[in-house]
Amino acid sequence: MVPEEATGAFVPAWDRARYHLEGVGSLYVHVPFCRSKCAYCDFASGATRADDPLPAAYARAIARQLREVEETGLFEPCRTGYLGGGTPSLLGAALPPLVRAVAPHAPTELSFEANPDSLSPDLLERVREAGATRVSIGVQSTSASELVALGRIHGPERALEALREAVTSGLRVSCDLMCAIPRQTGASWERSLRNVLASGVSHVSVYPLAIEEGTAFWRRYGEEEPEFNASDVQADRMEAAEATLTRSGLRRYEVASYAVPGQECLHNVSYWTGTPYLGFGTSAASMLTREGYLALRGVAPQLPAPGDDVARARVTVMSTARQIVADPALGSLRLSVEFLDLRQAVAEDLMLSARLAAGIPGGLLGLAREAAPASQVDAVVSRACDEGLATLEGGRLVPTHSGWLMGNELYGELWGLAEGTIDTRTC
Ligand code: SF4
Repeated sequence: MVPEEATGAFVPAWDRARYHLEGVGSLYVHVPFCRSKCAYCDFASGATRADDPLPAAYARAIARQLREVEETGLFEPCRTGYLGGGTPSLLGAALPPLVRAVAPHAPTELSFEANPDSLSPDLLERVREAGATRVSIGVQSTSASELVALGRIHGPERALEALREAVTSGLRVSCDLMCAIPRQTGASWERSLRNVLASGVSHVSVYPLAIEEGTAFWRRYGEEEPEFNASDVQADRMEAAEATLTRSGLRRYEVASYAVPGQECLHNVSYWTGTPYLGFGTSAASMLTREGYLALRGVAPQLPAPGDDVARARVTVMSTARQIVADPALGSLRLSVEFLDLRQAVAEDLMLSARLAAGIPGGLLGLAREAAPASQVDAVVSRACDEGLATLEGGRLVPTHSGWLMGNELYGELWGLAEGTIDTRTC
């Protein structure tokens, strides 16, 4: 369940009940198909031919898995859904039935990701009718030469047209932009920000390019930090984005996420506020309480029994798309499981919560002081404040400007409160 406060001032309440929720607050479906592979992308996705029957069969297999979980009661508190990828819009006619299968479990918000080249007014209308409330469009840049450098297959005109079509469709619209990329200048970044704002979107996510191992960019640039991606360039671009987006009435509510107040992505907020979720499809991850995990074991008996000290389980689907289509039964999936004790789960939640501009609520800090020695928690809080990464405001630990830009240092401090190794199994 998405905390109600999350829709207002983003001050989610924390309580012990979150660690014992028997169901999930949100559900995610991973769609691993793309028209071609972008040069920087390390997501679980692959280029798919237009006439390949696999995507439609995959969508049907996931809908079947949803029905299987319905019987467990895990979906009862579920409020938000998200179809991500890959490129969910590439499913075309197979997308509306999949959205229809998710919609009963996402009464508050149901998002899907799209790329400009596979989105049309007709698809937007059919997906909206099926129950989607929000679309997130991968634009990345509105400079033709930057898009070519990224290996994107759409041009700037089509990207901006897709944004306008989405806004007209009545869905809430978000778009992704990427900074610190080849050929980008301060001026071209500013133009990309202004162009997407002019289209009427109410949400923008801004990411610095990460050069990940195994990608074409890694082979090209992995040896040394290229100038366009230097950490000071990243910081400059992120600061410029904040200034421009804030001037246009959007508010930064998370490290990389800006929204017109009231248009925040509640699904993503539920991740950052430690709400359990279920993930479907290849490489999708779930996060469950001990109680939720035991309920999932009812339909996936290959999952190992949790030890007595397990408070949280993270489950990842290891089966490929083809394996899921060949046998969608949850009991046949190959899975990997990570078991966390309460102290590790709370440390993880501290780290995730520090991504929010509103910071870590006092209630969660209080739970941390019970799960780990209070003196250690207090020492981490003091260090974060002394290093200028965070400040205490009314009992909350709120990231400062430096804490926002150097998030990994702050998250590292908080994750340091976890003790021991995480118990990992495959089944
Ligand atoms: S469209 Fe998105 S998921 Fe697909 S290859 Fe490009 S970046 Fe990766």
